[in-house]
Amino acid sequence: MDLHSNIYVAGHNGLVGSAIVRALEGADYQHIITRTSRELDLRNKEAVDHFFETEPVDYVFLAAAKVGGILANNEYPADFIRDNLLIQTNVIDAAYRANVSKLLFLGSTCIYPKFAPQPLREEYLLTGELEPTNEAYAIAKIAGIKMCQSYNRQYGTRFISVMPTNLYGPGDNFDLQTSHVLPALIRKFHEAKLNQAPTVEVWGSGTPRREFLHSDDLAEASLFLMNNYEGNEIVNIGVGEDISIRELAERVKDVVGYEGEITFNTSAPDGTPRKLVDVSRIAGLGWSARISLEEGLRSVYEAFQGLNLVEQ
Ligand code: GDP
Repeated sequence: MDLHSNIYVAGHNGLVGSAIVRALEGADYQHIITRTSRELDLRNKEAVDHFFETEPVDYVFLAAAKVGGILANNEYPADFIRDNLLIQTNVIDAAYRANVSKLLFLGSTCIYPKFAPQPLREEYLLTGELEPTNEAYAIAKIAGIKMCQSYNRQYGTRFISVMPTNLYGPGDNFDLQTSHVLPALIRKFHEAKLNQAPTVEVWGSGTPRREFLHSDDLAEASLFLMNNYEGNEIVNIGVGEDISIRELAERVKDVVGYEGEITFNTSAPDGTPRKLVDVSRIAGLGWSARISLEEGLRSVYEAFQGLNLVEQ
């Protein structure tokens, strides 16, 4: 990309898309193109075709997707598979026909097989059964990766796919029914502190392990790969370290300054026992994450408190 390229960030209001826009602006890219979902419904093929036919686009960051935590994925699998298949199929195909120079598609590490060896290497994709709670989402994302690779093979496009680990950051979803664990715990501990509640309930056994990547790190990695990576193979993006949900709960408790007890609701699902990514491919290309979990948690909690004040 050069500073005058036309760069379309699909999903710019989301956790990932907003971080990519911040990173592009920070690096002085001049022509960042965005559309809200109201202006352009990416599930609508005609609207997407019209957009790519009328707007000159050189690069696409495809960060638009229907995403959610374990509960939402489990309860609304039809919405997850339909919306993601529609969004990615429409954008990837229209981008090809519009001759865009390069496209970056976002997969996710939750689409690796449930019991794949750890740390997860890129070649483990499609080597085993998926986690049932997010199978519909995973099938859609795997289709997106295969679509990029197939277009590259058949049409000579340069569509790359990345596999970010669990993400968090400013502008995250803090709705307890649909969010991922990290923002959920920030909200739960914050509200428990305000209400002087004696306990905070954490779902599951607390033993599953997760790796957490700040969205600003993911955005930096995405720009880095757009500018430096041409391969057909997927690339993991992570920090290379994980912690248990119990440890995460304790860290969030400390950052928030909550003094009560943590309880575990073992009737709630645990999901995949572990999903730590092997980051050697991206490290070999010359990129590694910079934001520590401690620093990231503090900044997200600060942003969350700011958001609450504005809302009140
Ligand atoms: P996953 O990484 O796809 O499994 O999605 P989540 O981030 O939603 O959940 C990660 C783990 O955190 C699972 O074992 C959840 O049961 C656990 N967890 C504990 N408390 C919560 C909570 O309040 N919300 C969510 N979403 N997960 C929680």
